[in-house]
Amino acid sequence: MKRITVLGALLVIGGLSAAIVAQQQPPRPPLPDLTKVKDNLYVIASSALGPEFTGGNTGVFVTESGVIVVDTKLSGYGPTILERIKKVTDKPVTMIINTHTHGDHTGSNEAFPATVDIVAHENTKANMAKMDAFKGDKAQFLPKRTYKDKMSVGSGKNRVDLYYFGAGHTNGDAWVVYPSLRVLQTGDMFAWRDAPTIDRNNGGSAVEYPKTLSKAVAGLKDIDTVIPGHSPVTTPKDLQEYQRFVTDWVAAVQSAAAAGKTVDEAAAAIDLTSKYPGYKSERYKAAIPAVYAELKK
Ligand SMILES: [Zn+2]
Repeated sequence: MKRITVLGALLVIGGLSAAIVAQQQPPRPPLPDLTKVKDNLYVIASSALGPEFTGGNTGVFVTESGVIVVDTKLSGYGPTILERIKKVTDKPVTMIINTHTHGDHTGSNEAFPATVDIVAHENTKANMAKMDAFKGDKAQFLPKRTYKDKMSVGSGKNRVDLYYFGAGHTNGDAWVVYPSLRVLQTGDMFAWRDAPTIDRNNGGSAVEYPKTLSKAVAGLKDIDTVIPGHSPVTTPKDLQEYQRFVTDWVAAVQSAAAAGKTVDEAAAAIDLTSKYPGYKSERYKAAIPAVYAELKK
């Protein structure tokens, strides 16, 4: 009886310490499986923000010479991303493209071999270099190749075109086109159907955002499929609508500021959800301060 009690106590203590460890290191939310977008192009989908958050959409493009991964989610997902890729090809990952600096798009760069080429806009490389996640030894996972306005990698059906149309979410947002498949991956310039995040610390701009979206809509032809930053695969029509939404939303915030409204008053007064069905207004309050700060500059 006594032994059983001691054993029971040990089990309780063991259970408690296991619970404490689990609390200190919560298990990472799982990643979904790959979804096929077109032949040789897959997405490992983003998750909802909150406790289940894993990062943005990850593009997986299987080319003849190797796999190109576009955005690597939060830190810690590298092994799972590689496991998912193995389900569709034996080819090694040869290139990472980071659409922008944020940790939910660059966090798992560190899990790939040092031989992998890493490509991003030049401002994104500069922004990433400021992050703790890329200091010291981790600097080897910074972009190795950068571009300013446009760059192509690969050729023929393996080609990927990278464009830059100006500031918006940050000052280094890449627009990634898979021309042979007529697919565009937007990063967080088009993350979701709600107010955009404008990261002024990384050069984002509310004033430029609508213009940059216009340039992208006008400049990217022969696209029939769009992979947004954090929402399901959609169409160019939805990107065009998002351009109109952001134009209207920024204008509404500017009018609210001109009328002397506080951030809270502006967030309460502005509602574009009936003009844009399917859009949410959950992010207005978080997004408006960046617009106000830029207007005061
Ligand atoms: Zn972002």
